[in-house]
Amino acid sequence: MLGSPASVLELDSRTAWSGAGREGADHGTPAARRAGATLPGLTAWLAQRGEPAYRSDQVARWIFQKRARSFAVMTDLPAGLRLALESSWAVYQTRVIRRQTATDGTDKLLLECRDGRRIETVLMREEDRRTVCVSSQVGCGMGCVFCASGLKGVERNLTVGEITEELLHARDLLPEHERLTNIVVMGMGESLANLENLIAALDRVCSPSGLGLSQRAVTISTVGLPEKIKRLAALDRRYHLAVSLHAPTEELRDQLVPINHKVGLRAVMEAADHYFAVTGRQVTFEYVLLGGINDRDRDARDLVALLAGRKAHVNLIPYNPVAGLPYERPAPRDLDRFVRRCRQGGLSVSVRKTKGKRIDAACGQLRRRVAEATVSTSAGNAGAAIELATPGGSIARLGG
Ligand code: SAH
Repeated sequence: MLGSPASVLELDSRTAWSGAGREGADHGTPAARRAGATLPGLTAWLAQRGEPAYRSDQVARWIFQKRARSFAVMTDLPAGLRLALESSWAVYQTRVIRRQTATDGTDKLLLECRDGRRIETVLMREEDRRTVCVSSQVGCGMGCVFCASGLKGVERNLTVGEITEELLHARDLLPEHERLTNIVVMGMGESLANLENLIAALDRVCSPSGLGLSQRAVTISTVGLPEKIKRLAALDRRYHLAVSLHAPTEELRDQLVPINHKVGLRAVMEAADHYFAVTGRQVTFEYVLLGGINDRDRDARDLVALLAGRKAHVNLIPYNPVAGLPYERPAPRDLDRFVRRCRQGGLSVSVRKTKGKRIDAACGQLRRRVAEATVSTSAGNAGAAIELATPGGSIARLGG
């Protein structure tokens, strides 16, 4: 934004991808994977001032590995340089404006970008797993009828820096001795509609000089954009792909996932097959279960038929109700029957546990609630409020 200091974490995805080959011809050259936790804008600025090149790596190390939030704490930089950095650069461009913690250990952060737009990031804790769920866009343009994120369409793609910061803010919630173990791109937005920025951010965070996660510990969830799936396959990364199927037939998918009218189920399945053939990595299919709509016996039968002969895993997600939308989660009996029918048909299925229900942890729900509460009460600036969820406590009041 005009007048704001440049952000050191911002990264032009074209820079990150330079040397990675032209569109469509990228087969994962080492350059594409070498991106690391570099700060190219800062590097150029330092060079102009005659500072040694390693200063940029020092700053990156402070941010990624030592959790620095200001230049002042970077004590191995000369004091004069620290002052100059403070006046020309910002470490973070997003700020946490709300944090909600559920009793199951799930934390949800509402982040505000420089343009005032808000995004959500969720940290889930489960045994020794520490998983962050990141957003890839502000809003979503896919319009899945049951989802809160797409109710107002897509506003813009998140930048490489913003996605990086989502992960760093979530990491900073952990005690010093804990590390992030997994990333799921299952927050707001259609991940593959912002493929370049997303991959540049993930590559950076997964590099040894970033947060050092394995690419295999990252799952990218997509509504199923065939051309983008093929591009991702050609990038030769180790990221895991999850395709949001939600319906086993063309007709039902057209109803639930409007983009399907344009894309078609057959092309989605072909792209998923292609991903598996090229990468050797099994694709997960996500299936949100909506009571009475796609959880019937015939849906299970059609799903079995669709996936027969494919090496695939299905993640069944009982619907997380969204205020104002007419969908419900299936009755426990119906859920059990659906699972049983799938398994009898030879499908590998699991049922996703709902995390952070009380804190609106499903895509787009917190942002929406805060927006509505702000409008209805004119609460204005939410500041850096930290709210802790207690049964029936402050979180329940957010909706106004
Ligand atoms: N655009 C990507 C990421 C979306 S979020 C995609 O379509 O995959 C990740 C998953 O959560 C998707 O499968 C999405 O359909 C699902 N989802 C959205 N709203 C939900 C809700 N209220 N309850 C349960 N799952 C939901």
